[in-house]
This record gives sequence, C-alpha cells and structure tokens, in this order.
Amino acid sequence: MIKFLDLQKINAFYNAEFTAAFNRVLKSGWFILGKEVEAFESEFAQYCGAKYCIGTANGLDALILILEGYKQMGVIKEGDEVIVPSNTYIASIIAISKAGLIPVLCEPNIKTYLIDATLIESKITSLTKAILPVHLYGQLCDMDAINTIAKKHNLKVIEDSAQSHGAVYFNGKKSGNLGDASGFSFYPGKNLGALGDGGGITTNDHELAEIIKALRNYGSHKKYENLYIGINSRLDELQAPMLSIKLKHLTEDNAYRRQIAQRYLTEIKNEKIILPEAYHPNAHVWHLFTIRTNKRDELQLYLKNNGIETMIHYPIPPHHQKAYSYWQDKSFPLSERIHSTILSLPISNIISHDEVSEIIKVLNIYQ
Ligand SMILES: *Cc1c(COP(=O)(O)O)cnc(C)c1O
Repeated sequence: MIKFLDLQKINAFYNAEFTAAFNRVLKSGWFILGKEVEAFESEFAQYCGAKYCIGTANGLDALILILEGYKQMGVIKEGDEVIVPSNTYIASIIAISKAGLIPVLCEPNIKTYLIDATLIESKITSLTKAILPVHLYGQLCDMDAINTIAKKHNLKVIEDSAQSHGAVYFNGKKSGNLGDASGFSFYPGKNLGALGDGGGITTNDHELAEIIKALRNYGSHKKYENLYIGINSRLDELQAPMLSIKLKHLTEDNAYRRQIAQRYLTEIKNEKIILPEAYHPNAHVWHLFTIRTNKRDELQLYLKNNGIETMIHYPIPPHHQKAYSYWQDKSFPLSERIHSTILSLPISNIISHDEVSEIIKVLNIYQ
C-alpha cells in the first residue's frame, strides 16, 4: 500500500534531534512563550524574508489575528468585506467570519486552482478592505496583479500561506513576504509541520506585529496589563524547537517535492487525466499534487484497488457547506467543477521514486 502521507516516517528521521529538544524544554521548566518560541519566530521570519514572525496556536488563529490586528489599527471594521477564493480550504473563509467580517467569494482559474486575479476588481465594493489570496496546494497566486489591484483600491493583502512554506515568487521573495501580512499553519501534514497544532504570522509592519503579539496573549504586552480584548493563541514552547529542526530541511524537502511533481507532470500520459498547471518552478512547493478527472470517484477506487491511497482536497465547496447555508443558492461553477473532479496523488519529501513509478504506471494503464 502506498500511503497518501506517511507522517510517522517523515518525523522518524528527526527522532534524535526531537528527543534532545524535548528533554531541553522539559529540563528548562518553561513551557509558554519562552526562548524556543522566540528563536523559531526569528528563524522563520528570516527564512521568509519578513521582519517579524509571531507564533500562534494554529493557522486559523493566525488569519483571525491578522484581521483582528487590522481592526485594532482602525484599518478594517466589523462588517467590512474581504475577497477570498471560492475553492479554498474552509479555514480561510471561517477566519474572515470569525473576525466579524464578510467573506466575498471569487472564482479561481481552473488550470492553476488559484484565485483568478482578473475577476477580483468586479468583487470590490465600498466595504472591501482586504484581499485574502490563498496559495492553494503550494502554488503562489498572481501577487503582482493582486498587489496592483490592492494599491489602486487601498486594500490590504493578507496571504494564506498555510500550504506554501518556502515558495519563491518571480522577484525572489518568499511566501510570507508577498503582501501586507501572511498566515501560516504548521499542522502536522503541511510542508513545515509540527507534532501537533501550530501556526504563525509574518509581516513587515511593526505596528501590526506589536498588536498581534499582544492579541495572541490576552491582549497583553506586559504581564497583567491588557490593552486589548485578546485571545489565548500561542505557539507551544514544545512545538517551536520541532519546527526549528525541520525548518533547516525545508528548502531541500521542497526541492524533492518539485522533482516528484515534475515526474508526474511529464510521465503521466492518460487523456482521462488533467494535470495541474505550474507557471514557474520555484513558485510551487507542491503541498499537494492535484489532478482532475471526470469520473473522480471511480479513479480513486481504481487506485485504491491497486494499493494507492489518494485524498480529495476538498470534496464540498465552501458555498455548499451547511455552515454557510446563506450561500446555498449562489453558483460558483468553476469551484463546483473543481470540487467534483479533483483528486490528490501521494507526494511528500519521503515518497520514493519507485513508489512514484508505480503510481505513474497504474495511472497510465487506467482506461
Ligand atoms: C491548513 C490550512 C489552514 C488552517 O490551518 P490550521 O493550522 O489547521 O488551523 C488555513 N488555510 C489553508 C489554506 C490551510 O490549508
């Protein structure tokens, strides 16, 4: 059986370093917001090329905290609108709702699955305050076009970088340094994954960074003094060193994922299968390798019967979720088509070339 993602194997590689880090934290007796979190924040900011990084409990909170930070700054207010792709993972949209703002869905490009920047301006109203591009499946959005639109209409650009750690844009800048602020997830299965939940925010905006640093810790800069009504969403002192350890390998891991993706792109030859489009090699870190096919469930079953595990990211479009029943009569035909035809093949930093050969062989004889 070729697993979709073998987290046990991915993390086993770091066993000795993880154990040493665990013992170090245990021995220190300091478990919340200490040296380990500070060290990771500084390393990750540097990795992304951003001035500041603030660790959070997870990726959803990272996005919520950015929006709450802008509310504290008076840039955004309750009831304002944020433009977000209609085919994203639901967390991007929930973050907007949880911050008391209105998500406005914008269709993607069906070949790249990324928000279609040519449609964004038609979604802008007097209430629009931000665009939240999602670098879905690991590929960077058209940030030149998005930043140009944002500048023209005085909007903030908040990257959802939960799937794109380490992706590099044409200009050499990385995910996390391509807008005004960026939210990351370190959920175990992400390209940079913790041993549990974790998240982070990067930004070059000093004021925003200071506010978020307080907001994630009850709104407090200084113990027992509260400037804001904050939340408790801190990156764990035990998770931070695990992330520091894995961060050292991220560039190499992403390069390996690119090799695997390149093999899928050139060696899968079956007219029933539509391959994803990557517009620039470094702008994609292949968090997921997603193909499309008309009889998706049939192909998934065929692969399963041939010992290959696949997943669907994601089976239900956000506007058809019961949680957002007020969108039930809306139509987003491209998203609907993507959600009903998409299938993710196994890809990771540890999948072997033999396994990839097997997957390609099985796909190429599928009729
Ligand atoms: C994983 C993910 C999130 C949320 O991250 P959590 O750490 O699970 O809260 C947000 N957006 C996207 C696109 C994601 O893939």
